[in-house]
Formats: sequence, C-alpha cells, structure tokens
Amino acid sequence: MSTTPNDTVMDLTLSFVGFVLGIAITLSIVLLFPLNHTKYKTSSFTRKQNVKKWQPPQISKGLEGCIGNTPMIYLRTLSEASGCTILGKAEFLNPGGSSKDRIAREIILSAQKSGALPKGGTIIEGTSGSTGISLSLMAAATGCKCEITMPSDQAVEKSNLMTLFGATVERVQPAAISNDKHYSRLAESRAKLSQENAMRNNEYHCSTFYTDQFENLDNVKAHRTTTGVEIWEQTGGEIDAFVMSAGTGGTLTGVGSYLKEQNDQIQIILADPTGSVLYHRVKDGVAYTPQQSEKTLKRVRVDTITEGIGIDRLTRNFTEYEECVDDALRITDQEAVNMSWHLLRKEGLFLGSSSGLNCTAAMKVAKQLGPGHTIVTVLCDSGNRHLTKLYNEEFLQKNELYVNIDAALV
Ligand code: PMP
Repeated sequence: MSTTPNDTVMDLTLSFVGFVLGIAITLSIVLLFPLNHTKYKTSSFTRKQNVKKWQPPQISKGLEGCIGNTPMIYLRTLSEASGCTILGKAEFLNPGGSSKDRIAREIILSAQKSGALPKGGTIIEGTSGSTGISLSLMAAATGCKCEITMPSDQAVEKSNLMTLFGATVERVQPAAISNDKHYSRLAESRAKLSQENAMRNNEYHCSTFYTDQFENLDNVKAHRTTTGVEIWEQTGGEIDAFVMSAGTGGTLTGVGSYLKEQNDQIQIILADPTGSVLYHRVKDGVAYTPQQSEKTLKRVRVDTITEGIGIDRLTRNFTEYEECVDDALRITDQEAVNMSWHLLRKEGLFLGSSSGLNCTAAMKVAKQLGPGHTIVTVLCDSGNRHLTKLYNEEFLQKNELYVNIDAALV
C-alpha cells in the first residue's frame, strides 16, 4: 500500500504529540512523588571489607539463661589516677540487679533437681536484700513461693521490690546472731517448723526449702564455676589482684579460690567495712577475742551504712576456701560514700555502697602494688536500691557522713 504526503505529516504529528505527552507524564510523576524519588536514590556508600560481624547473643533459656556473663568495665579515672588497670565486674547488670542471681540459680535448680524443693514449694531465706530479690525472681520463674525475712535497717527499696515480685517479706529489728530474732535465724526456725509439721502430718515431701545462703555451699560453687571463670577469661589471665567485700563470703572465696588455682601469685584481698569481724580473721587468724565467742556476742550486726556486706560471724561460704585470702583492708563508710558519688559523677556508674567500698579498696591495693598492675573488683548492685540512704544527703548527714568527691582518689 502506497502512502500519501498527507499520511506522512499525520504520522509525524502523532509521534510528536506522543513524545510530548510522554515527557509531560514523566515530569508530573517526578514532581508529584518527590519523596519516593529520593527514598530510592542509590547512595555512594561502599561496604567495607573485613569488618568483624557483631555476633548477637544466643537465645537465652528464660531468666536462668540471662544470668552471668556480665561485662568487665575499665574504670578510667581510677586507672589513670593509680597508673594501674582497675576493672569492675558489672554484676549490677544481672537481670535481678546483682551477683546474687548466680547463687539463686545454683541453689534453686540444684534443690529442684535433688527433690529438696518440689514444684510449687516455698523458698525461705533471711537476707539483707539482694539475695531476696534474686530468689523472688527465681521463685516466679520456677513456679515456687518465696518468704523473706530481712533486717529493718536495710533500704526499703529492696523489700518493696521483693513484694512486687510476689514474695512475702517481713522486716525485723536488727539483732546479733546470738539472738533468736536475728533475721537469718528466724528464717531457719520457720523452715524447721514447717519441716516438723510435714513430718507430723506424714507428708513424704516437705514443700518448704531453706536456701541458707550463708551455709549452703552451692553459693560459693556458683562463683567458682561462673564468676571466677569469667574474670579469668575476660582478663586473659592478666590479673594481679582481686579485691572484694564479703556478706556471705561466697564471691570473695569462690572467685578467689578459682583464680588462685589458675595462678597462685594472684593476690586475693578482703575489703571489710567497720564493725565486721572478717578483717581480724584474715589479719590475726581470729574473728573474736576469747571473751567474744559467737554465742555470747551481743552487739547488733555490723556498724556501717553499707548494705549486704560485713558480718559478725564465720560462715561456711567464707571458711570453706578462706585459705585463698591473702590480706584484708578496713574501709570506712566515709570512703565508700566518697567513692560511690565519684563513680556516679566521674564515671557515670550509678552503684550501691558495697561497690563504692570495693573500688576504694581497689585503689588502695593499686597504690600498694605500684603502677602497671591489674586489679579486678566487683560492682555489686545498682544505686537504684540505695536512693533513701547512700544517695540521700539528709540521711548521710544524720550519720555524720558528707559527700566529698575530690577525696575519692587520694
Ligand atoms: N554487695 C551487695 C550489695 C550484696 O548484697 C552482697 C551480698 N549480701 C555482697 C556485696 C557480698 O556478696 P557475698 O554474699 O558473695 O559475700
């Protein structure tokens, strides 16, 4: 078929109109959806080679799987001031907020395994707070009930938490260990009573289990098998001293004995608050003068505002491995207060009084050893549990304590 000149003009006109329409439609899409346009703009970023991929943690098995493997923190201001490497094991980052999670896990799981704590049973403990908090959480996670006695001079934040976590909590008057009303002896006698009742009623299993954190050696075992191993691994064995206070003694002797077995040159140092008997035990081999045998001791607990540490008797969790302890330092409340506030204001670490006391002792050990050494201590719990005492200046003043951050490192 032949084409006329008219047909050619028509074809050209249609092509031109199509071309113009195409441009108009493209332009209007670009103008109408400018955000979409920029969203998909290709960037000039080029992937770096050989970047080590971050390994996300494995899936944890419930609460118990989240306990331990805490970070080790380089304490910059303490290290720079002493010329040593001072490291703090961040136990306050455990899910229950302290290293007591480790012993709660060990004691409860082993009691359930042996049948001593049946499912739905009741856990009984006397505690200054941290252990009770960890036990309350473990009780919830394992389907148990929890009954706690604690001295009324310990921060109310801690008993509030335990109640919130489902435990029954009784705050009792502070008393010496020789007194039947001592918080720990009260817990023990209640557990005994419950066991006697079960026997009287011919129950095959008593459903009450006394965790007995001071005497139950699963406490020290938890630190030998986890905390100590982690510290050794995290420092690559480069450690000259381990410094720690004692409440039950489980952390000090558990970590201490494990580290000593790896390298017997590592110094294990107790940091003891005023009033505690362990300082004399380590220094002189006796906790009491002959006139002060444990049974006759009348003095009320220990003479300190620090919490969870200091003790007026010898516990199995201290004596079982006490030969690993080389030396002891006495640390005052004023020193612990200054250091706790220093750690908050200069390191951004909001910690409890035992951590302040531990870090003061770590500084003193660093000065004794001289520059170039590595000292590890424990950051036991968070400052959140100490708002009404350590971080309440009115309370401190009533106890003739004053915050002096500048004095912390001297
Ligand atoms: N710091 C705090 C806050 C504690 O609660 C405890 C334990 N009562 C300790 C330190 C001492 O730990 P341990 O019982 O292992 O000696």
